[in-house]
Amino acid sequence: MDYQAAFESAVRRVRAEGRYRVFADLMRYKGQFPRARWRRPDGDVRDVTVWCSNDYLGMGQVPCVVESMKSAIDTVGSGAGGTRNISGTTRYHVELEASLADLHQKEAALLFTSGYIANEATLATLGKILPGLIIYSDELNHASMIEGVKGARCEKHVWRHNDVAHLEELLKVAPIDAPKVIAFESVYSMDGDIGPIKEVCDLAEKYNALTYLDEVHAVGLYGQRGAGIAERDGLMHRVDIIEGTLGKAFGVMGGYIAADGAICDAIRSMASGFIFTTALPPALAAGARASVEYLKASHHLREKHQERAETLKNRLRDAGYPVMDSITHIVPVQVGDPVLCKRISDRLLEEHDIYVQPINYPTVPRGTERLRLTPTPLHSDEMFDALINALDDVWEESAAAGDSGLASA
Ligand SMILES: *Cc1c(COP(=O)(O)O)cnc(C)c1O
Repeated sequence: MDYQAAFESAVRRVRAEGRYRVFADLMRYKGQFPRARWRRPDGDVRDVTVWCSNDYLGMGQVPCVVESMKSAIDTVGSGAGGTRNISGTTRYHVELEASLADLHQKEAALLFTSGYIANEATLATLGKILPGLIIYSDELNHASMIEGVKGARCEKHVWRHNDVAHLEELLKVAPIDAPKVIAFESVYSMDGDIGPIKEVCDLAEKYNALTYLDEVHAVGLYGQRGAGIAERDGLMHRVDIIEGTLGKAFGVMGGYIAADGAICDAIRSMASGFIFTTALPPALAAGARASVEYLKASHHLREKHQERAETLKNRLRDAGYPVMDSITHIVPVQVGDPVLCKRISDRLLEEHDIYVQPINYPTVPRGTERLRLTPTPLHSDEMFDALINALDDVWEESAAAGDSGLASA
């Protein structure tokens, strides 16, 4: 086996499809978000505006968050020094879990090192706890849920995206006393649409299923206290397990579930991805708690965020750009070709100091490649002007160049 050749040929295939990933080397300026310093591959350095961050409200730079992280480091040092069970649980972890349980109005919450791990570990463990479990998973669920469902090693059914009639067809044929979990998301992060939470909860009641809702792209952003879409729509008490991240709108890092005490206790006791890993650094837990508490009381930021997203969609549509049908803060602009998508993104960065990462397969289906814009409350009207001027400059030309470029590729 020529290992070197195997790895190189794997990368060649990715390149040939136009989806080789190049990471932008960035330094955000605290206090000036969304401005950042970008280092080009040749070492040249330049200031850019970031248009694709999941730090949706700029919480990563808010003084109370930054200061509580610094103060935690000054008090207890850097790492947790152990798993949660073996010396790694600190006061900061305990307080953060209480803050999250309160956010979602559940008896308990359980922290994980990321939202990815929260999904993977929790769903896989439900398969261990509930013998004969059947999982019903929305077809557009995030990769971390898909891995969790696989790890559950149980019967599974994939329901067509947001299609509750299809979900019911699948539920109907299962034995009524079989344990069932319906796993779905509130805000789908690439299209900006929303899962039918009420209808899914109705079906869950009718067929005696548990509901598992990923609110990763909604926590901090929706609801009177930032608990997500289920809070906004008055449905939080009907969802059995709510999963969220501390790395996106909360601006720090980590993931969690919030649920009944018995559920959290069972996952805590049995989930490999919870038990056998070092606890989050205390400073992250402190920063996340400060952010969660700050956003419980900062509804004006959510309103400003919605206004910015709405205004950007309208401005792009008025200028003739194919904004996809998002009903949330996500502003996806369809390009439909991976090479073209990357070319537009490269030119925005190189020629206009605008950074928006191209979103290509496998993050989205082939043929739906896009620019995914995430305006924050800190994106000004002047930044909107600059974005639209830049798009006017690169859009048509890149598409025209794309024809010959693709033909010769
Ligand atoms: C990003 C994401 C996750 C994972 O969260 P992290 O905290 O970044 O690991 C889970 N679910 C969805 C829908 C996501 O987009």
